[in-house]
Amino acid sequence: MGILFNDLVFGPLKSRRLGISLGVNLMPKAGKICSFNCIYCECGWNDDEKAARLIKPKKEAIEEALERKLKELKGTAIEPESITFSGNGEPTLHPQFAEIVDMVIRLRDLYCPKAVISVLTNGTMIGNDKVFNALNKIENNIVKLDGGTKECIEAINLPNFKFDLEKYIEQLKRFNGNLTIQTLFLRGEHNGKMIDNTTENEVNQWIEHLKAIRPKRVMMYVIERATPEENLEKISKAEMETIAEKVKSLGIETEIYA
Ligand code: SF4
Repeated sequence: MGILFNDLVFGPLKSRRLGISLGVNLMPKAGKICSFNCIYCECGWNDDEKAARLIKPKKEAIEEALERKLKELKGTAIEPESITFSGNGEPTLHPQFAEIVDMVIRLRDLYCPKAVISVLTNGTMIGNDKVFNALNKIENNIVKLDGGTKECIEAINLPNFKFDLEKYIEQLKRFNGNLTIQTLFLRGEHNGKMIDNTTENEVNQWIEHLKAIRPKRVMMYVIERATPEENLEKISKAEMETIAEKVKSLGIETEIYA
């Protein structure tokens, strides 16, 4: 069980990290599609058989829903501060992702020019030039890096492909600092295996990656809601602050959501 979004455009919601945020869901209403299967995913576990039958919404349908909503919100007290791609899975897996980003930029400029555009992405498509260039056009590309070692990242994110950490770090470096790194810290157990991305070794290696990537910001999270793997522990604010100090000492802006 997990939370699924029933609309192409949802909210606006008050988001701690993005302010008044209008969500854009590029994935099907009926189920989640993702290249990761994170043990903490609020949408629940992947169902690949079901995902294969799901149809992603067309750009035109998203455009119509977004334009209608932006017209309605323009000039009101809840005019969005962020138009945010998130929802039932990974937005960059939509085959028209780059064209949709261009469309959202056009509608934002027309109706809510002060709003930033944010994409919450797992980063698995950033090796694709079209996706990379689209992410580079927006203000807030927020990309996942959930640990320091390949083993730990794989244990948390459960990718559906052969994950190459070195290659991924090189791809993240290509943004030249025009990205935010998002990391969820947790410890627990999945399928009998202990998982902990807060150990000294994990944090130190994660810090080394941040030194190489030089993101403009790091967002650090803890578990907030029910997770598909139930044996996970929420990390304390004090522990998160200790980790954040290491990031701050690199001169990188850091926000904790704990
Ligand atoms: S990347 Fe996001 S949508 Fe995909 S499984 Fe992880 S948390 Fe869920």
